[in-house]
Amino acid sequence: GRPWELRKVRTTCPYCGVGCQLELNLKGNKIVKVMGVRAIPNEGRLCVKGRFGMGFVNHPDRLKTPLVKKNGELVEASWDEALDLVTSKFKEMKEKYGPEKMGGFSSARVTNEENYLMQKFMRAVIGTNHVDHCARLCHASTVAGLATTYGSGAMTNSIMELEDADCILVIGSNPNENHPVIGTYIKRAAKLKNKDLIVIDPRRQNLVRYARLWLRQFPGTDIAVINGMMHVIIAENLHAVDYIAERTENFEAVKETVSKYTPEYVEKISGVPAAEIIAAARLYAKAPAASIVFCMGITQHTVGTDNVKTMSNLAMLCGNVGIPHAGVNPLRGQNNVQGACDMGALPNVYSGYQAVTDPANRAKMEAAWGVAGLPDYVGMTLTQMIPAISEGGIKSLYIMGENPAMSDPDCTHAIKEMQGLEFMVVQDIFLTETAKLADVVLPACTFAEKDGTFTNTERRVARVRRAIPPIGQSKPDWQIISEISTRMGYPMNYKNAEEIFEEIRTVTPSYAGMTYERLESGGLQWPCPTIEHPGTQYLHKGQFTRGKGLFFAIEHQDPAEMPDADYPLYLTTGRLLYQYHTGTMSRKAVGLNEKAPECRVELSPTDAEAYKIASGDMVRVTSRRGAITAKAEISRKAVAGTIFIPFHFAEAAANTLTIAALDPVCKIPEFKVCAARIERA
Ligand code: SF4
Repeated sequence: GRPWELRKVRTTCPYCGVGCQLELNLKGNKIVKVMGVRAIPNEGRLCVKGRFGMGFVNHPDRLKTPLVKKNGELVEASWDEALDLVTSKFKEMKEKYGPEKMGGFSSARVTNEENYLMQKFMRAVIGTNHVDHCARLCHASTVAGLATTYGSGAMTNSIMELEDADCILVIGSNPNENHPVIGTYIKRAAKLKNKDLIVIDPRRQNLVRYARLWLRQFPGTDIAVINGMMHVIIAENLHAVDYIAERTENFEAVKETVSKYTPEYVEKISGVPAAEIIAAARLYAKAPAASIVFCMGITQHTVGTDNVKTMSNLAMLCGNVGIPHAGVNPLRGQNNVQGACDMGALPNVYSGYQAVTDPANRAKMEAAWGVAGLPDYVGMTLTQMIPAISEGGIKSLYIMGENPAMSDPDCTHAIKEMQGLEFMVVQDIFLTETAKLADVVLPACTFAEKDGTFTNTERRVARVRRAIPPIGQSKPDWQIISEISTRMGYPMNYKNAEEIFEEIRTVTPSYAGMTYERLESGGLQWPCPTIEHPGTQYLHKGQFTRGKGLFFAIEHQDPAEMPDADYPLYLTTGRLLYQYHTGTMSRKAVGLNEKAPECRVELSPTDAEAYKIASGDMVRVTSRRGAITAKAEISRKAVAGTIFIPFHFAEAAANTLTIAALDPVCKIPEFKVCAARIERA
């Protein structure tokens, strides 16, 4: 368009997993305004990130050319030089060490088409299943937990159903800051429609104002609290007897386990008064349709998978799965974390969660991709690949749109590990903390410069549309992967993103009925198996995806590290409304960054008095892994004994402090609990 003409392009928000539909208003190649579109799931709403957060697209710091490390310095290079180097090094690594020493990190920030290609490249061209992405750090436990109990690892119901749920139980989630448009639906339900809202959270989050009940548990005691609620529901005969008999299995084992979780016993473990546990149990169980909403306060624990299974137990106990306005609803964090999982950017499955260990699935993919001998083992997770470097298990990494130097737990250690790689390629939009460590940096496009699809938290696939040409010499990730693959001797000649989507449909049953043409009129929710299928608003209607819903008997366990004399406080980490993840995008958006420009350590008035700290004082926070210095913020949000630090700020990186202890099933780290001490700096 001409520089003075206003153009409008409809696309999908690149920040969180709500997947708001928005309209970029452009003059020339500049985004001058962003408007919400009156469509599902946001009905015109946008949060501050969607409205004011697009400054990163045209930011002067965008990577505009490839960079190659020479004498320890990253210097500009041509695409030919950079891609030749990547190709020859990948070939060398493969020959010298074998494909099982090579890993790839895909990305929840890029499109479905790009995630699909990344896993295809790692599997079919490199020959390894060591491919993963940051779902490992946020919702791996959701996928593992829900897939086991129900047969599908996704949000059971839809965002807009929340408004008409009779009861909403929000646990380990702070939607007003992290999924703000979903927060507005929950607030409307409680405030305008007088529905029952239960918040279970140690921090006084915004939704507490509208809640009928607020249970303030010690960090890491969610299983005890929910087991306590189930104890009460069964004791008072409020459970769904017929539903349990017809649709589920293994209930008796759970009944026996929760029999000892009396409200009084749970009060001792969790600090929640027995009367509140009883009240919450009654409120949830008596609601005709009750919805559970959870996020990383549930998933980021060494018992993350067990936490999720406990949510499954509670919902089945009251017959709340397979009906509208109810279900178990994990709020996926990043714009396309659901899609990255759906596309098989995981070490154990191809797209559509088809296990790599099943010979029939391998044969199907080999036929579709025209290759033989796809690897048959479950690959390493992201959290296994990093520590494997110093043990000689991983020699090279291809990292697309991920920033593990800041997002990994105990990140000082993670950086040291990555420095030990023989070859490292990072493909991103900015020179991130991780990109600085790379041998080759490849400049990628943002969402505004490419076509494709994102899948939001409610399984809705929506279009991403190119609004401006690529900045500098940057290219869409799918194009970069294709060019590397072609140079490696496996031609990928896709003309556009739609051609990749057409391939995805043929090998992914849950996406088979979707086309770009059908997506034009809005989004479609998977499963959508045929071209006539309308998409699926809620899962497990009539029967669970796995057949019968499976109860698990689960006991409370303490977190990996508890406060003690040396480190007397709980430390928990998370996000702020105005910032996003490692800040790569939001700190480049002036409108957002000026609202929350620096790291603040949130502590309660009680702890502030005990440690003689005033708001605005510089404090040092120390854990067994390291120390950071930042300003203190005394807040009524915090509970005595627990401090909270957002993880957005490189200069005071919260993950310097966090512990790399992993959930044994899904390998998610325990970001939500470790022990720390605080003092004036
Ligand atoms: Fe974007 Fe999420 Fe905000 Fe919607 S709620 S505008 S998807 S950041």
